[in-house]
Amino acid sequence: MKPLRIIDVVKAVGAIDYTSANRFAEIDSVVFDSRKAKPNSLFVPLKGESDGHDYVQSAIQNGATATLWSRPAGEAPEEIAVILVDDTLEALQNLAKAYLEMIHPKVVAVTGSNGKTTTKDMTAAVLSARYRVHKTQGNYNNEIGVPMTILAMPEDTEVLVVEMGMSDFGEISFLSRMAKPDVAIITMIGDSHLEFLGTRSGIAKAKLEILEGLKAEGTFIYPADEPLIRETMPMDGAYRKMTFGLDETATLYAYAVEPGKNRTTFKVNRDDSLELEIPVLGAYNVRNALAALAAAEVLGMAVAEVKDALASFQLTANRTQWVEGVNGAQILNDAYNASPTSVTAVLRSFAALPREGRRIVVLGDLRELGENSAALHAGLAAELSPEDFDKVYLYGTEMAALYEALENKFSADNLYHYVGEKAPLIGKLQSDLQKADQVLIKSSFGTDLLSVVAALRV
Ligand code: ATP
Ligand code: MG
Repeated sequence: MKPLRIIDVVKAVGAIDYTSANRFAEIDSVVFDSRKAKPNSLFVPLKGESDGHDYVQSAIQNGATATLWSRPAGEAPEEIAVILVDDTLEALQNLAKAYLEMIHPKVVAVTGSNGKTTTKDMTAAVLSARYRVHKTQGNYNNEIGVPMTILAMPEDTEVLVVEMGMSDFGEISFLSRMAKPDVAIITMIGDSHLEFLGTRSGIAKAKLEILEGLKAEGTFIYPADEPLIRETMPMDGAYRKMTFGLDETATLYAYAVEPGKNRTTFKVNRDDSLELEIPVLGAYNVRNALAALAAAEVLGMAVAEVKDALASFQLTANRTQWVEGVNGAQILNDAYNASPTSVTAVLRSFAALPREGRRIVVLGDLRELGENSAALHAGLAAELSPEDFDKVYLYGTEMAALYEALENKFSADNLYHYVGEKAPLIGKLQSDLQKADQVLIKSSFGTDLLSVVAALRV
């Protein structure tokens, strides 16, 4: 980050008071993990399972130059600059706002039920063809991750691409007001977090909070084929609108989509002569790419300019990633997260791939679906037919509903259901997998089929 003087930080966070041997001392990084503290860093003690104030001494030992402090002033350390605030998280967020104003890059904010990280990575990649871009690292998309992302921006950043996640109402509104995007993207409305948001239109409403911070002259990019967005969108905004999709109703649409195992090619209605490519599988990833191309267009970049950057973008790990499995099988690892919509999207893309060996699906429980969980699990039966998939392995108690729904479609030796210990599932797969089998493994993070992937990869 651009170096800030202690007095600048004091002003930005609206500190109650501060102590500093040298108020012109500078900080050039902000950390909340005391192990990452170093000279010229500002330590932010946050309250989580433990209280970061208990780690201030360790931050000092690691060389921190200053710390925020919300305990009684009399208990503050004396070795380094101390900035007294009411609430350290709020102070972090206010510092991020002030820093963002100082650097004032164009801001592209990405939210949606699925595809945020992928779209964020694609958007950052294409914009990098012209601009100096800073983006959210990994999945750092909440009320701590967003300010930390802002504060990690280098001084010469021209565009900030920031992922915004949520599990309840009010969260996206808050993040959007903090980052004040010029471009706001909703990737799609799915059914993650139904437990907290009640209905899919509740989910749409929560995602649409991204418009609350969108600059007046900003642009809203969203899928053309999601009526819930159209229906729920506030009508009074002055912002521009741009839609994307896989048919002609969208402002920016893709056609001639050619599925492949490691790459997908397609064309877009901006330039029929260009064949575009993404180094990942799935029509859903073409949709993510369209959102990225739309953002590039808003920032003045034509498709031809970003084509190469899109073709070589790097996906964050564990999102539909091929790994070598035992016995020569190939595993499509998508066990990082799952919801009914993302399972549906991936199953369709998996079924559309050219066949090599058998196609096998391993699905684990989808979490946080609330009272309709059983019905939503059972509903996936519509996506699983014996013509497309040779074998189906299910794991977890919630999957009982899908098992029941599939029992009359699949023969007993092609349909399995496990609960509890993962060892029997792993053992069965180890003996069953054959050369050239393609195996999709997908579940919610909490179900932990990543451990099954780990056991089956070579
Ligand atoms: P998180 O809530 O964990 O931050 P995310 O929204 O960032 O998730 P990604 O990490 O980009 O999403 O993708 C997670 C998974 O969602 C992918 O591996 C894929 O299975 C699915 N997915 C990605 N994009 C889409 C999309 N546009 N539509 C449906 N499913 C998608
Ligand atoms: Mg993410």
